[in-house]
Amino acid sequence: MNLGMHFSIAGGLPKALVLARRLACTALQIFVQNPRSWRWRQVPAQEMAIFRQQRRQYGINIVATHLSYLPNLAAADEPLYQRSWERLQAELALAQDLEVDYLVCHPGHAEDAAAGYQRLAAGLADVLARQPPPPLILLENTAGQKNELGADLRALGAILSRCPLPIGLCLDTAHAFAAGYNLRRADHRRRLRQEIARGPGLTALKLIHCNDSLYPCGSRRDRHWHLGQGCIGRRGLQKFLAQFAGYAAAIILETPKKTAADDPRNLSTARALASGLGEMPAAIPPGPGPDGGRR
Ligand SMILES: [Zn+2]
Ligand SMILES: [Zn+2]
Repeated sequence: MNLGMHFSIAGGLPKALVLARRLACTALQIFVQNPRSWRWRQVPAQEMAIFRQQRRQYGINIVATHLSYLPNLAAADEPLYQRSWERLQAELALAQDLEVDYLVCHPGHAEDAAAGYQRLAAGLADVLARQPPPPLILLENTAGQKNELGADLRALGAILSRCPLPIGLCLDTAHAFAAGYNLRRADHRRRLRQEIARGPGLTALKLIHCNDSLYPCGSRRDRHWHLGQGCIGRRGLQKFLAQFAGYAAAIILETPKKTAADDPRNLSTARALASGLGEMPAAIPPGPGPDGGRR
């Protein structure tokens, strides 16, 4: 099983690979641009070449990029909708140049959910026709904050089945928990599994975002927390991984990074929780990293 986490690209894209290697990760996730800005940084060809080469050299098997925060792929406002899809296309093209495997994006938000899902499906069909995978676009389930789409796996499944080309699923444990899937309970895990199987299909599940949740199940509040120290807890995460990790290509952590000890500790917890799921190299501590929050 490939395990890694989201790393900062401060200082250039290849910096994230160095952080990943230091912590013995075989997978990682990055933003390819500043996630809180519409401004576009042209990534030099040389930086991309170094990224591709070092990624192979460091044995990073799975690389995912996460779409920045500002695009809303289900926006009712036409100019924002256009701008959002242009941004996704630009990030997708960059991800392709970097030879990454997956691009993760959230379904967006809309007051009228049905209309929002329609706009999302239309945009996806359009982008996929122009830029077929790789990288494969993965839709991520959400906590369902305010008018956020994608908290319900059945609705996500409907989108995935409406698109002409393949799209995958990224399953975030903290989001699922906040959305009302109590991963601590066997019956809820069974329901989640059924909804994925009947919706997008278990083969669509490519990535797991393994995060604990600061807030309780069903709170619809998206706040990632240190593994084993949140409301899902060690046992809940362990049970979840035992049932779902086998389908995914990688497990990615998006846990808070407040101190230099946080990343190595969360990774070692993840290794312990996932032990028995396949070979995973041991960690080489310590590793700094100023980045965090919700993703
Ligand atoms: Zn996530
Ligand atoms: Zn995300």
